[in-house]
Amino acid sequence: MTSIPVTVAPAFSEKAEEKARDARAFAWSASRHDTFATCPRKYYYSYYGILEDPEVQRLKQLSALALWAGSVVHETIEDFLRTNDAIPDPTVQEALIRSVVHDRMLKEWKQSEGGTNGFRLFEHEYTQPIEQEDKKILVGIVMRSLRNFFKSPLLREAFKVRRSAWLSMEELVSFHVDDVPVFLRMDLAFRDERDRVRIVDWKTGRRAGKFNEVQIAGYALYAAEKGWAKSATEISTELAYLIWPRYVRKDVTQPVLDTARRFVTRSAKTMRALLNDPDSNTARIEDFPRIDKPRICRRCNFRKLCFPRAEALEVRSTRRSAPKP
Ligand code: SF4
Repeated sequence: MTSIPVTVAPAFSEKAEEKARDARAFAWSASRHDTFATCPRKYYYSYYGILEDPEVQRLKQLSALALWAGSVVHETIEDFLRTNDAIPDPTVQEALIRSVVHDRMLKEWKQSEGGTNGFRLFEHEYTQPIEQEDKKILVGIVMRSLRNFFKSPLLREAFKVRRSAWLSMEELVSFHVDDVPVFLRMDLAFRDERDRVRIVDWKTGRRAGKFNEVQIAGYALYAAEKGWAKSATEISTELAYLIWPRYVRKDVTQPVLDTARRFVTRSAKTMRALLNDPDSNTARIEDFPRIDKPRICRRCNFRKLCFPRAEALEVRSTRRSAPKP
């Protein structure tokens, strides 16, 4: 029987420090593009404001419930893959899953409620009611995703080829598209038995996000750049929707790579155009306008900076989207 060390991941993600470090130089990533496309002011706070203001740094780390579930699942999978070489029997799997919910999640919940430095939920920060049903759904997502992870054919395949055929797991890697440095992190990439490169993306949501295609193309660009495959057609990305579970394979082609390159170049150019000094990667808040979309602002980590009087946003949002209490 495989024994799994039940390590409780740190409540406050160590990746936070890494993110602050990466913000000092301009580097393209799918999440950077996503943030910019959502709101230029949010982008300013996320990549420039955090370098100067500890409160902006703290707000950036807030995690909404759904994101929290995703981080718990991802970090649990990462810990498991780092310390195991075989799928454990069902009782061990269940013990791990329960410890994640009863130890880690409970600890983070209490820390968030306490409001001291460390893990903090968006909902606690902005005193949004969390129903008992919401908590049940959250725990259900985590448990179901992890149970399906242990049953997933991708995990079986990854263990079958052994660790020596694994190409990347959760490392932050970088490469260039023309003069643009690009950063990305793959959940898992391995060479399968037929010598194909398989790039796995574990997902806890039910469907692909808005910029999923870009992210996938970024993975493929990196694989091509590293020479993992002789041609694009030897690479495929696997979207593992663990909650269903459902596995969607996207094969890569040369036109997909070409489109991705153009997309990254154009996106980086648009972001850099708003900088005060692109060479030193410095920005001024006034060059990054706020958006006028209360529905998005209500769910934004930085909303207390843009709307110090919360009621101003609430009144407008009530009028526009009429949410029911
Ligand atoms: S609260 Fe709205 S305007 Fe302000 S940063 Fe967030 S999304 Fe942008």
